[in-house]
Amino acid sequence: MDSHTESPAHSSGSPAHGSVDTRAVHAGRDDLTDLGLHAPPLDLSTTYPSRDAAAEAARLDAFTEGKDDGGPPVYARAANTTVRRFEQALAELEGATAAVAFASGMAALSAVLLARVSAGRPHVVAVRPLYGTSDHLLDSGLLGNTTTFASAKEAPSALTGATGLVVVETPANPTLSEVGIQELADACAPVPVLVDNTFATPALQRPLAHGAAMTLHSATKYLGGHGDVMGGVVACSEEFARVLRQVRFVTGGVLHPLAGYQLHRGLTTLPVRMRAQSTTAAELARRLSGHPGVSRVRYPGLGGAPRPADQMAGGGAMVAFEVAGDAPGLIGAVRLITPAVSLGSVDSLIQHPASISHHIMDAGSRADAGIPENLIRLSVGLEDVEDLWADLDQALDAVS
Ligand SMILES: *Cc1c(COP(=O)(O)O)cnc(C)c1O
Repeated sequence: MDSHTESPAHSSGSPAHGSVDTRAVHAGRDDLTDLGLHAPPLDLSTTYPSRDAAAEAARLDAFTEGKDDGGPPVYARAANTTVRRFEQALAELEGATAAVAFASGMAALSAVLLARVSAGRPHVVAVRPLYGTSDHLLDSGLLGNTTTFASAKEAPSALTGATGLVVVETPANPTLSEVGIQELADACAPVPVLVDNTFATPALQRPLAHGAAMTLHSATKYLGGHGDVMGGVVACSEEFARVLRQVRFVTGGVLHPLAGYQLHRGLTTLPVRMRAQSTTAAELARRLSGHPGVSRVRYPGLGGAPRPADQMAGGGAMVAFEVAGDAPGLIGAVRLITPAVSLGSVDSLIQHPASISHHIMDAGSRADAGIPENLIRLSVGLEDVEDLWADLDQALDAVS
């Protein structure tokens, strides 16, 4: 897929049978009533019996080529009927023709990189900042890739004949900086652009509608939404999905069926959670920017700052801020907010990127990515805004 015009990644218009809210509840479940079921079946089979060896051989050939016709999977490393439901639902929400799920967000990114390296396009242009381990994976070249880090503006001039992928996060982890997807995709065409959509989720932003060839999620975060399941997923064209399934089949980074079940259930409340958590995050960002213990707040559109037009609904549920006092100390001073890495859960989580989420990068790379050492990242949950503010306010006073 060297051109994202070869095979459409983006399915037509809005989801079938209604809005994103409606489809979040019903996607991947449309056959349940006819099956006489309410909850999707949890399929824990590792193998799928058949008396017809020749037919099984033909099915395996198809799986080896990355095709999945929805029939019996033969073996659980090829496919799983519960995980398929999550993939189908996520593809629908992203407006994609296909989605392929993995054991984690990093397994998903690894599969994308292996797919591009094996296609003879090992060079990646990556727009910083990115999640720390993604930055490290790209920078280390562990999977045979090479990477040029560039700003969104410089990205087109960093492309070479060997470039197989442009990687961007918007809003980015951890600074919440935004990139105009359509402008980047147009300027980098025909090289496919991957948007890590973990922070916005398809409830607020659908990158394929803005020219991205694929979106990637750490499903561990908002898609699961409750801090109790790990997963990753890529939404893209069926053509690229076949390559990703081939990679998944041979490398084995499959999503566990129980995780697939939990992620599929998580999608049902995703739009409601994102709206509620975003409303609280916007209010906390506003209050933080008036706090004397805070030197700078990062939140999309805060104070009327310019944003990419018509790209993301609202500012999302993540807030980042620089503290004037002891940044790591703040993590130890919160009492209600959970002092932990990760994000996207129903409870609020706070962490110090230089110590945890972006610790794997060296200080020079963090500086290049524009991640200050005194930056704090807050994932806003479903608690009451006044309770969260009281906790932040007392913690900031304690370290100022
Ligand atoms: C957490 C995260 C990842 C990695 O996902 P895992 O599920 O932890 O492997 C990738 N991108 C972003 C933006 C993340 O926040």
